[in-house]
This record gives sequence, C-alpha cells and structure tokens, in this order.
Amino acid sequence: MIAEHLREVRENVAAAAKSAGRLASDVSLLAVSKTFPAEDVLTAYEAGQRQFGENRVQELAEKAPKLPADCVWHLIGHLQQNKARQALEYAAWIHAVDSLALLRRLNLLAAEMGKAPKILFEVNVSGEESKFGLSPDEVSSVVEAAKGGPCQPVGLMTMAPLGASDEVLRAVFGGLRELRDRVARETGVALPELSMGMSGDYRAAIAEGATIVRIGTAIFGHR
Ligand SMILES: *Cc1c(COP(=O)(O)O)cnc(C)c1O
Repeated sequence: MIAEHLREVRENVAAAAKSAGRLASDVSLLAVSKTFPAEDVLTAYEAGQRQFGENRVQELAEKAPKLPADCVWHLIGHLQQNKARQALEYAAWIHAVDSLALLRRLNLLAAEMGKAPKILFEVNVSGEESKFGLSPDEVSSVVEAAKGGPCQPVGLMTMAPLGASDEVLRAVFGGLRELRDRVARETGVALPELSMGMSGDYRAAIAEGATIVRIGTAIFGHR
C-alpha cells in the first residue's frame, strides 16, 4: 500500500507542477512518517524515498537509527530549545525555526557539534492565534541574524489553516512566496526553499511555488 500511495503522490505532485508551468523536479516530496513505525519508513525507502519528516524530536531520535544512513531527516514540528541538541544530532533540515532565541541556540550548539543543518523559518501567514511561527514582519530581522551560520538559512515554511477554501489556501501560500521574495531582497539571503503543502492542500501550494511538500496521510495512511 505504501509503495502504491507513494507512486500516486509522486504522479500527482508532478502533474500539479506541470499544470503550474513548473518542472516536477522543482518540487521535492518529503514523506512525513510521524506516528508510523520504522518498518513503514523502510517500505517507503525501498520504494525509492529518501527524504523523511518527523514533527517530534524524541520520535526522530528513536526512529532514525533504525533506518539506512542515507535517509535524510527533516524536523518539521515546533522545536523547544531544550531539545535543540538532540534535533541537531539527527536532522539535516529543521523546518520550524520560529524565534530569534531558537536560532541563536541552534547556531551555538551547531558550532559546538560541528553541524551545519539547513534551516527554514516558520511563518504564521494566516495570523491564527493557535499557530507557531514568526509574524511576517519579524522575518527579515531573524534572517539577517542567521547570516553568520553555521546553520544555513534556505527558506520559509508555513501551515495553512485546516479546512481552508482554495481561495484562502492560495492567499496563504502565495503570501509566503511574496514574503520570501521581499525578505530575500531586504537581506540578500536567497531563501530558495518554500516548504508548504500537506496531504489536503499540496496542489494549491505547488501552484503558488512550493519547493518542498510535506505529505504524511496520503502516503502512510490515517494516523
Ligand atoms: C503532520 C504534518 C504534516 C503532514 O500532514 P498530512 O496531512 O498527514 O499530510 C506536514 N507538516 C507538518 C508540520 C506536520 O506536523
């Protein structure tokens, strides 16, 4: 089932890219394996998948050592500062840097540990109270502060409101793209990656320029 779903999702991602006038190769598929056991991840690995996303550090730390070393792990969930060291041990990508304090902590520890993960800044584009993420106005100053490394700022990430209409989805995802363009201009940091789109909304995200879609349910099933 997982291999079959993966094939379908890859086809859908390619079709969505094509209908947006983009190359399928410009959108990478992150398979979100949270709550699913290592065996399921291995099945996806055997079907050719290498990029995997987890939203909790503890689960990442338990799962990653059970899988082949060429899996690339992305931490996609909110990260508490006291878990930053463990996150850096396993995650090559950290998608949800959402404060200056967390950025500073990650850079300090990464320098000490000899790590240089790719980082994305989570932005609360829709302004929902319940969401983590920087407000759009804060992003430039945090990206500016990331210039010294060693963590490598590569892009922005967002989550759309659950159950939003296509119109709202396009506004949120398009908003992240426009914000990225503005922040890149203001800071001189390129920020090529836009991590946006999940099982229910990845087509809209791809239409608005997503370069990474984070898909769990459509590949592994319901949690
Ligand atoms: C769980 C999760 C996803 C994947 O969601 P699905 O709807 O299962 O595809 C994507 N991004 C984040 C941050 C998540 O926590």
